[in-house]
Amino acid sequence: MNKKKNSLNLAVLGIMGTGMLTALFGFVNAQGGNPTVIETASHRFTQMAEGVYQITGTGSVNVMSNALLVVGENDVLLVDSHVTPNAANALLNSIPAVTNKPVRYLVNSHYHFDHAHGNQVFSSDVEIIGHEYTRIKLNGELGNVLEESTHISFTEGVPGQIANLERQIAETSDAAQRITLQTQLGVAQAHLTSLREVVPTPPNITLETKMTLFQTVMQGSREIQLLHMGRGHTAGDVVVFLPQERMVFTGDLMLPSLSYMGDSFPQEWPETLEQLKTLDFDIILPGHGAPLQGKEKIDQFQAYLEDLWQKTGTMKARGLTADETAAQIDMTNHATNYAQIRGPGADVRAIRRIYALLDE
Ligand SMILES: [Zn+2]
Repeated sequence: MNKKKNSLNLAVLGIMGTGMLTALFGFVNAQGGNPTVIETASHRFTQMAEGVYQITGTGSVNVMSNALLVVGENDVLLVDSHVTPNAANALLNSIPAVTNKPVRYLVNSHYHFDHAHGNQVFSSDVEIIGHEYTRIKLNGELGNVLEESTHISFTEGVPGQIANLERQIAETSDAAQRITLQTQLGVAQAHLTSLREVVPTPPNITLETKMTLFQTVMQGSREIQLLHMGRGHTAGDVVVFLPQERMVFTGDLMLPSLSYMGDSFPQEWPETLEQLKTLDFDIILPGHGAPLQGKEKIDQFQAYLEDLWQKTGTMKARGLTADETAAQIDMTNHATNYAQIRGPGADVRAIRRIYALLDE
């Protein structure tokens, strides 16, 4: 069930934040036409420039992360493979709604499960490109990623969510609500089943700092830069920079919200973002959430990271445990920039990470 939309409709507007709208209208102004949104049952492809689509899930499959499709004359480049084989298969099945060109390259922005655990569904003629660190994480050289606290902390709650939905379905007398809950239950069950099918699959082409691809397009070639700008969200973040389109896909190195920090390098991250700012772009396509316009949001995140690092260090020096610091730390001076901040406290996984780094 594919439907091509040539104008924004209310359903599309409903899922987009204002940043996304600004980005889209920016594109509208630049191109003099309405942005194209192509939707399948599982995915939404929002055209950001000629042949460049931001990919988000519609909710019928738990994809957990955004992806990017860059369509050339002969083939396509995809960035990130979602969270499970199930989610990646849904994406592969949706791409023909946009293009009949084969996927030639899959880029992993980083090794985290929600961006790279769909890798296994791609056939052997698809080259998977990522940072060297992404390869050694996904091939198990540093231990099984499925057994790491990051993966466990984000997946251990799924059976409980399923039980909770089943209980709500049993209790509700509202027919419409029952249908909604049953849909959610189906999505959660498919997600859990596929989580158990994951075989971490590493990139077969790696880079250390930079790789440039020149994709054949009708007008000649499209430059696609893959850049590692330093450690940040992980030790192997790669951003995908499209200089002609003035856009950069940042994975979780730069999000509209506070990025997960359990495997991060918060003391180096601001400098890495400083490097990101040296690129000439107007639009950030993040690994989660709506596109961001301009660089102001980067300044805000740098300020948060520096403040979090400094305050955590001070509280650790006063003798507080990581869990005490996570409960008490006051980051509310950043609340206007982040809806997640509603009072004192920070993600305990971020604080434990900073304690571990300070102990090194
Ligand atoms: Zn992520």
